Amino acid sequence: MGNVIALANQKGGVGKTTTALNLACYLASAGYRTLLIDLDPQGNATSSLGVAKRELQASTYDVLLNDVTVESAVLRMIRPGLDLLAANKELAGAEKELNDLTRPHHRLARAIESVQQRYDVTVIDCPPSMGLLTLNGMTASDSVIIPVQCEYLALEGLAEIFNTIELVQQRLNPNLRILGLLMTMFDSRTRLALDVVKDVHRLNPRRMFNALIPRSVRLAEAPSHGMSIFEYDPASRGADAYRLFGAEVIQRLGLDSQSASQSVSLSAEDGRKTA
Ligand code: ATP
Ligand code: MG
Repeated sequence: MGNVIALANQKGGVGKTTTALNLACYLASAGYRTLLIDLDPQGNATSSLGVAKRELQASTYDVLLNDVTVESAVLRMIRPGLDLLAANKELAGAEKELNDLTRPHHRLARAIESVQQRYDVTVIDCPPSMGLLTLNGMTASDSVIIPVQCEYLALEGLAEIFNTIELVQQRLNPNLRILGLLMTMFDSRTRLALDVVKDVHRLNPRRMFNALIPRSVRLAEAPSHGMSIFEYDPASRGADAYRLFGAEVIQRLGLDSQSASQSVSLSAEDGRKTA
């Protein structure tokens, strides 16, 4: 299995961007050469890492529609080991403009082909819809991670995304796999959150990640400082949870952890000691 991962869920505000950027930062710190692709016109992954959306020289839009290469469009080393293909609201026009091109669903897949050797893992942050942008993300990916908010009706949205993934597998990308479901914004004090986790687990026992992302003010604050949770508050519960999640992703991808440089600051143990 290759290592291009899309974070997707047509529901808005479920933690796609938070997960994409913290996963990308985790992987980069663990020594994997990582590319984060912002595929959302909101540009939240871009701004959450402290990059000014309005001042981009080149963006995901240019790669999809202006034949600019990924190699020349990426912002290099926005963190050690992490490159970013940034986005801003220019990308909003892409859904429509892509329609006029041949093979509109394969634009991103084709664009990233030439840089696959440069990266160990590519993480794609998809927008909250199942339009052409997300379909480009899934067509370019080997696997999908679905963040699921621990809320009422979470299961309903899941059926829809499973359907879409099946369609993508049939028509656009037969290699696409579901890497896992990640429960986000879990509040252990509410009965509802526990019930949702139980229900999702019962229906998808092997797909759910063990890591459970807590509802945490620190996770919500970090983006406004342009930081990952590991930079903003490495000792927080949110940072711990995303470390566990990152380690599970590495395991599920079968990436050899031996080959990655050991990062002291991101080890789960280190986080707990200072918690
Ligand atoms: P969109 O569909 O709009 O792209 P999204 O699925 O990418 O949204 P995020 O942007 O990651 O979701 O999260 C939505 C909001 O919730 C953001 O303000 C984010 O900071 C906050 N948030 C994300 N995860 C958590 C969490 N575990 N605890 C508390 N707040 C969170
Ligand atoms: Mg988002």
